Amino acid sequence: MMNEILVASRNPGKIREYAALLEPLGFRVLSLIQAADFPETPETGATFSENAILKGVAAFRRFHIPTLADDSGLEVFSLGGKPGVFSARFSPEGTDQKNNERLIRELKGITDRRARFVCTIAFFQDENHPVLFEGFLEGQIVDDPKGDEGFGYDPHFFIPAIGKTMAELSLFEKNTLSHRSRALSKMVVFLGAKR
Ligand code: IMP
Repeated sequence: MMNEILVASRNPGKIREYAALLEPLGFRVLSLIQAADFPETPETGATFSENAILKGVAAFRRFHIPTLADDSGLEVFSLGGKPGVFSARFSPEGTDQKNNERLIRELKGITDRRARFVCTIAFFQDENHPVLFEGFLEGQIVDDPKGDEGFGYDPHFFIPAIGKTMAELSLFEKNTLSHRSRALSKMVVFLGAKR
C-alpha cells in the first residue's frame, strides 16, 4: 500500500495545508524542504496544468516516490484572469506583500472585484501518466487586508458566503473549502478507488 506522498513544493503554507489533509488519512507527507540540493523547477508553462506537470515530473524522476505537484494562483475577472500562472511573481520582488500591493494598485477604480483561486494537481505514480485534478474557489478582492492566517493573497480574498477573508479562516476551516482542498479531495477519491 502506498503511504508516502512527496509534495513537490517548498512553499511552507501549501505543505502545511496538504499535510493537514493527508496525514489524518494515513499518508506520510514529504516535501522538497527536506531536499535542499534539488533545484527549483522553472515554471515555464502557459497553464496551471503544464506547470504542475513540469514540477511533478522533475521531482518524480529524481525521487521515485508517488508525487503530488500543484500549480495554483489567483484569477481576477476584470484583469482578464491575471495574475494567473504569474501569481507568485506578480511583483518583481515576488513577496506576498509586494504581490498584494500590485494587485490592489491594478484594481484601483475598478468596481468588479470578482476573482477565483485555482489549483491544479498533477499526481505521478508513473512518469508518463500524470493524473490531473482541479479545484476552484470564488470570491472577491477587497482593498483592506484582513486576518493573518494562510499565505499569499488570502488577506485580500473575501468569501461572501462566509463573510470573511481567507486569512481570517483557521487552517482547518480553509481546508474545508479552498481550491487546494477541493482538488485534493478529488485525488483522495481517486486513490481510494485504486486501493
Ligand atoms: P505556485 O507555487 O506556483 O503554485 O504559486 C502559487 C501562488 O499563487 C502563491 O505564491 C500565491 O501568491 C498564490 N496562491 C496560491 N494558492 C493560494 C492560497 O491558497 N492563498 C493565497 N494565495 C495563493
